[in-house]
Amino acid sequence: MDIRFSAEDEAFRREVAGWLEAALGGEFAVLRGRGGAGDEGAFVAERRAWEKKLASGGWTCVGWPTEYGGRGLPLSRQVIFHEEYARAGAPGRLNHMGETLFGPTCIAFGTPEQKRRFLPKVVAGEEIWCQGYSEPNAGSDLANVQTRARLEGSEWVIDGQKVWTSWAEWADWCFVICRSDPDSARNRGLSYLLVPMRQPGVTIRPIPQITGDAEFFEVFYDGARTARENVLGAPGEGWKVAMATLALERGVSTLGQQMLFRNELAEIIALARANGRAQDPLLRQRIADAWIGLEIQRWNALRTLSDEAALSPAGMIHKIYWATWHRKLGELAMDVMGDEAEIIDGFPYQLKRLQRMFLFARSETIYGGSNQIQRNQIAERALGLPREARAT
Ligand SMILES: Cc1cc2nc3c(=O)[nH]c(=O)nc-3n(C[C@H](O)[C@H](O)[C@H](O)COP(=O)(O)OP(=O)(O)OC[C@H]3O[C@@H](n4cnc5c(N)ncnc54)[C@H](O)[C@@H]3O)c2cc1C
Repeated sequence: MDIRFSAEDEAFRREVAGWLEAALGGEFAVLRGRGGAGDEGAFVAERRAWEKKLASGGWTCVGWPTEYGGRGLPLSRQVIFHEEYARAGAPGRLNHMGETLFGPTCIAFGTPEQKRRFLPKVVAGEEIWCQGYSEPNAGSDLANVQTRARLEGSEWVIDGQKVWTSWAEWADWCFVICRSDPDSARNRGLSYLLVPMRQPGVTIRPIPQITGDAEFFEVFYDGARTARENVLGAPGEGWKVAMATLALERGVSTLGQQMLFRNELAEIIALARANGRAQDPLLRQRIADAWIGLEIQRWNALRTLSDEAALSPAGMIHKIYWATWHRKLGELAMDVMGDEAEIIDGFPYQLKRLQRMFLFARSETIYGGSNQIQRNQIAERALGLPREARAT
């Protein structure tokens, strides 16, 4: 893998930076630095408009093949795009799931009609997606899915409950794992359905988080409907499709995040310099460690991407590495802030950016596969250790 940047790459970097600088003026200026982790509920209408603005410049789905409306950018240019996006302080992407999870899964498993129907709307920033996997009794144990789907004429009818569905309230569509064969068990008999969120059979309730925001929701499906053709992959074979999406969640989609982490570390270093804590030898060591971890993480991400095998040993260590690193960065930020860390800016829950990051990072070792689950995967799949006992 050669990830050095050529003169043409650097010209591309200037093009991205120039476009973002101009685009983030005027009505979009308020979005700088907003809508990231723990701040997802901020400026939703404006960020919806921002998705369309990005699309107008051809800056959505930059890594997708051109035949599906992407730019077909090689890895090096995707890295540049994400670096410049973070550097410009551009807002958290409202359609992160559409672009990084649903779209690539649809490209891999969709029929030509499904690709024609759904992909252009993601590229245009017109349809926002969310992910309906987890249920009250199916989190780490995803194969325990109980939400049911049955065919009734030309439609699937869906009944059940999902939980922790990020962005459900703002999404137009959800990819929902359902049990379509009532006699099946575990990972057999599941289907990967594409379900419109705005319909009478779908009820969405926010779940407030420790950050004070509610980026995830309970979603109740009571006779919700979707067209018969809105199943990705064959009916009953949804597990394979669901796992392909999960692999994306643990790999490719984290590339942009690295660049945000870099900004956070820079903020911590600037603060340590300003408040004198950069003199503290233990904090200095932790800051240096954090920087080393960030570099390792970047190379891990690039290695994972260039392998194109999220279940390679490199892919397996990536998720646990970045999530654990970021949680520790939050703790470091609080120690650098010192007493200030204990005080909020205003009532009822006005957090500083680093406080919000500290609190939200607690969730990163849970979603997309908890640390314990990642360790099981590494033990069993990378190291070939005996399988742990499982409930039957
Ligand atoms: C911020 C956030 C956003 C999320 N967004 C979404 C979303 O958009 N869509 C969606 O479908 N889900 C989403 N989730 C849900 C997430 O995928 C689940 O929380 C996760 O899979 C863990 O499931 P659980 O919460 O049911 O915990 P459980 O599976 O009940 O686990 C509880 C604890 O037991 C441990 N544990 C469980 N099984 C084992 C085992 N075999 N060995 C050792 N330890 C074990 C876990 O590591 C954990 O510490 C989100 C979660 C968070 C925190």
